[in-house]
Amino acid sequence: MGRLKAMPSRLGRPASRVRARPKVAEGFYQSAEWLDYRRRHRDWTRAQHGGVWCKVCGATQRLILDHRVERSDGGADFPPFEEADWLCTPCHNRKTAEAKARRVRGEAGRGVVESSGG
Ligand SMILES: [Zn+2]
Repeated sequence: MGRLKAMPSRLGRPASRVRARPKVAEGFYQSAEWLDYRRRHRDWTRAQHGGVWCKVCGATQRLILDHRVERSDGGADFPPFEEADWLCTPCHNRKTAEAKARRVRGEAGRGVVESSGG
């Protein structure tokens, strides 16, 4: 009989941090990691486009760095810079609301067949 690893260590190995999915809600956007990512993304965007503005309407005020694939939809916390966009607050709120509505529709729509009269 071989030796089974019957007693897994309870000590988390440092490498496991890579796949760790910490449960973060609003706190994520206050985390040092995110703030650092955002600062580097802004520098990168400036270098790419010569400035930072809302991707949708071009506003330069109240910009938010948006996950193109929402984290609630399985997007990465820190996606490649090309997969995060700067949006102004109104545009970001609209996108978030639309994504949420789509998610709700998708879930509520399960098992419900939309029939269009006839
Ligand atoms: Zn905008």
